[in-house]
Amino acid sequence: MAEKQHMNLVIIGHVDHGKSTLTGRILLEAGAIDPHIIEKYKKEAEEKGKGSFYFAWVMDGLKEERERGVTIDVAHKKFYTDKYYFTVIDAPGHRDFVKNMITGTSQADAAIITCSAIEGPQAQTKEHVFLATTLGVKQIIVAINKMDAVKYDQAKYNEAKEGVAKLLKMVGNKVENIPFIPVSAYCGDNVKVKSENTPWYSGPTLFQALDNLSVPEKHTEKPLRVPVQDVYTITGIGTVPVGRVETGVMKPNMKVIFEPSHATGVVKSIEEHHEQLPEAVPGDNVGFNVGGVAKNDIKRGDVAGPVDNPPTVAKSFTAQIIVLNHPSVITVGYTPVFHVHTAQVACQITEICSANRAGKPLTDLSFIKNGDNAIVKVKPTKPLVIEPAKDFPPLGRFAIRDMGQTVAAGVCTEVEK
Ligand code: GDP
Repeated sequence: MAEKQHMNLVIIGHVDHGKSTLTGRILLEAGAIDPHIIEKYKKEAEEKGKGSFYFAWVMDGLKEERERGVTIDVAHKKFYTDKYYFTVIDAPGHRDFVKNMITGTSQADAAIITCSAIEGPQAQTKEHVFLATTLGVKQIIVAINKMDAVKYDQAKYNEAKEGVAKLLKMVGNKVENIPFIPVSAYCGDNVKVKSENTPWYSGPTLFQALDNLSVPEKHTEKPLRVPVQDVYTITGIGTVPVGRVETGVMKPNMKVIFEPSHATGVVKSIEEHHEQLPEAVPGDNVGFNVGGVAKNDIKRGDVAGPVDNPPTVAKSFTAQIIVLNHPSVITVGYTPVFHVHTAQVACQITEICSANRAGKPLTDLSFIKNGDNAIVKVKPTKPLVIEPAKDFPPLGRFAIRDMGQTVAAGVCTEVEK
């Protein structure tokens, strides 16, 4: 059998709206949880007269086993649908999600946004919708969860659906193309099997929606870009930077340059999961041995590219940003830390060129605040590789963090070298 196409999936949404329960449910329905574990907890639940709640027991059981240090992680976060092979990227905490999305260590090909039918969209629903869209998760599925708890009421579903649709539209998504599915992670409705409890719903199940996703584009035709996550020295081998190939193809004997450190070397070998690769393509997380470069010549935050088409070190750049969570207002002169691929560099906002508030253009451009979209000019305080998102999608996205939180997110549209 030909190997199924791989997809990275992230499950996001407001705290308590059912991310982990839905993850567990998906893995269970896909047959990805060890049947022994399920049987064990099913039996326990039955013995205690809680047979119908066995799923909750399984979930709690998994959590307990995890807390005891039993490794159920990696193996159990992969599952197959008819068409694809999915890895569920962990988004345990809100902050980790933001960080992982930006560094690209876990760039998601698709996201399931969970939203409780009881509560409708909440603060983190909004933030996750905005971030997922800005940070380039192209395909989104919305699961309106906890339908069992609202007695499968269509009006409740519609209310939550409209709320999430509004958020998706605000950041430019075409909601006609996004599936909204009434589910119960707890009871399994419309996850793999179409539910009889929602006769008013004629759309796909969650599994069908997953199979309807399209294969992510691999930008192999573009110049190579590998943001460096770490650099190791391995005895007998030499300097081994580690990173994810974002665009292009890396092959042994290629001459590469690391910017902004400006060090050049030759790729000697490429490894992924301790196996040598003849070449690395976008999506591959690799360690590659480079000759002619010492560990101290390069660092995390550098980007490797071909010497004849090197990554761009920006003097200044233009960006479109969305202010998400700033306690006051953003004005010219503000210099927060920008998280771009694996780099973290303080950058100054030098101009607010135009802005929109609640969909209307602003005439007063002296400040922007939460909810605003703006075009700004930015000047890094240290050399930084950033490139227009239209040319190098993962290298043009960033989050702006300050005071321990993500205050804004954005994409680079133009670069001044
Ligand atoms: P997370 O914080 O988004 O990961 O949410 P959890 O998966 O931990 O769920 C939060 C709470 O909601 C837990 O008590 C779950 O049992 C409950 N829950 C999750 N999904 C459902 C559902 O489909 N129906 C009902 N009734 N409760 C649910």
